[in-house]
Amino acid sequence: MSYSYEAPVSQALFDRASVVTPGGVNSPVRAFRAVGGTPRFMVSGDGPYLTDADGREYVDLVCSWGPMILGHSRPEVIEAVQAAVARGTSFGTPGEGEVALAEEIVGRVAPVEQVRLVSSGTEATMSAIRLARGFTGRAKIVKFAGCYHGHVDALLAAAGSGVATFGLPDTPGVTGAQAGDTVVLPYNDLQAVRDAFAAHPGEIACVITEASPGNMGVVPPREGFNAGLKELCAANGALYISDEVMTGFRTSKAGWYGIDGVAPDLMTFGKVMGGGFPAAAFGGRADVMAHLAPAGPVYQAGTLSGNPVATAAGLAQLRLLDDAAYAKVDAVSAEIRGLVGDALGKEGVAHRVQTAGNMFSVFFTSDEVRDYEDAKRQEAFRFTAFFHSMLADGVYLPPSAFESWFVSTAHDDRAIERVAAALPAAARAAAHATGEGVRA
Ligand code: PLP
Repeated sequence: MSYSYEAPVSQALFDRASVVTPGGVNSPVRAFRAVGGTPRFMVSGDGPYLTDADGREYVDLVCSWGPMILGHSRPEVIEAVQAAVARGTSFGTPGEGEVALAEEIVGRVAPVEQVRLVSSGTEATMSAIRLARGFTGRAKIVKFAGCYHGHVDALLAAAGSGVATFGLPDTPGVTGAQAGDTVVLPYNDLQAVRDAFAAHPGEIACVITEASPGNMGVVPPREGFNAGLKELCAANGALYISDEVMTGFRTSKAGWYGIDGVAPDLMTFGKVMGGGFPAAAFGGRADVMAHLAPAGPVYQAGTLSGNPVATAAGLAQLRLLDDAAYAKVDAVSAEIRGLVGDALGKEGVAHRVQTAGNMFSVFFTSDEVRDYEDAKRQEAFRFTAFFHSMLADGVYLPPSAFESWFVSTAHDDRAIERVAAALPAAARAAAHATGEGVRA
């Protein structure tokens, strides 16, 4: 596939980066391998816009993969960060900012009675699983194919979807032993969970699920699925862990819990709560959290956990996220979803725009997507053509057909008009795509 525009400065930076960093990036999806072409090296962000090293401006529909729910460089967040930096960047002691952020989380999300701050979503899910195993004294964990919980060894097993099976590692470097206690099940399939509990009585420590998955594209839980998980966990002495790293403080004030009201035993958070800095958390029932060091025997720690700059950014962002802010993000999301659906419909492109609160993604298939197998059946090559047309016309989409799109309170009429203006050509490109020459 050829691209009708160039990004020479980004390309030069990518060449330089590729010498000193594997694949030229510090997180794989940024390398554009799923869509091909030159990854854009961004130099600044302002409201709904990003500007790349070649001086081109884009409407940003990735929002740093979720965190930037107020848009880029929101003055109140920047001021809070500047004030925190001026007081020092890390003390390695407790500080009031951590307490305030923890109080904000506990105040918003009722099932969270206590919370521990960490630095990434990966750390949050890794620690929650360790705690669940320590609390229950059991080894096995259940996860769902297509759900991503960070690059935790035991959670990088997604093989075996469709059958209740022991996980096989998805990547070299994860041993059979590390993934062998992971049972991977098809998403949205409660019977598979029932069968797993029956097959491993008294052995399953927890079921971990994305509260509403966004990492295979947006695939919301079927009515009653999360409630069913909670019930099955309770009936079998296992903990129900809801991973809200992506949905937390994004889909509502209380994340996905604020939408479905199913109270988990443990929850994990990241992204929005860090205001663009490395801050994440896990929390839940006080009797479970009491098992965590130094209160209890399950070890967990972090040099930069509760970092004063990160907590200041997160707190400033959360305090700005009131009902009006969520109403605005929901409205922006609905408008853009409608525009995308109309444009693809006009060109006769088979598609489904799937939604979970204000998160959404476009699948290039006419069938409902309920799990990872469904998601993989879409015509992803159409997304590639669509993506590059949007990029050429100044709209930055996630560079993969299997990702959620994210919007912010800063997406105003002008930004939405620019998306609308780019869509007809992108829909035509999707319609005419053949899949030839697309890199896997
Ligand atoms: N859990 C979910 C649901 C996520 O979407 C992610 C990241 O995208 C993670 C965990 C891992 O978070 P991090 O990338 O901060 O380690």
